[in-house]
Amino acid sequence: MPRLRMGRIMTWPKPVRRLILDRAKGRCEGCGVPIPDDVDIHHRQYVSRGGKSVAENGLALCGRGNVLSFGCHGRAHSGQQGEARGWAVHSWADPAQIPVWSGEAWWLLNPDGTRSQLTWDEAAELRALYGMGE
Ligand SMILES: [Zn+2]
Repeated sequence: MPRLRMGRIMTWPKPVRRLILDRAKGRCEGCGVPIPDDVDIHHRQYVSRGGKSVAENGLALCGRGNVLSFGCHGRAHSGQQGEARGWAVHSWADPAQIPVWSGEAWWLLNPDGTRSQLTWDEAAELRALYGMGE
């Protein structure tokens, strides 16, 4: 088995992966399209930025984020688009404090695998605070 693929799979402990997949309910957390159960979970704060494999740092996104970049996972890795949606988080920020755009609403992801919907004003305040753009 190629080492890269192996490493990616083992990055997410099974119970954490389960929390994220249960939260996603079979749908991409970025746009709502159906996703497979073996979807490649995205690290909002990249591992290279110190990101942990915890529920609030994971997103079940459609597509792929690495070499074959497409779908929401591709957008999450595309710099500004990913940061503006809260799908990519800077090394200095706490992913639990950064709002996430789901295609229809803004959320905060909780460590217990739940998510809390933000009002438009709450999201705007946090996005301004963390410089997430318009
Ligand atoms: Zn998507």
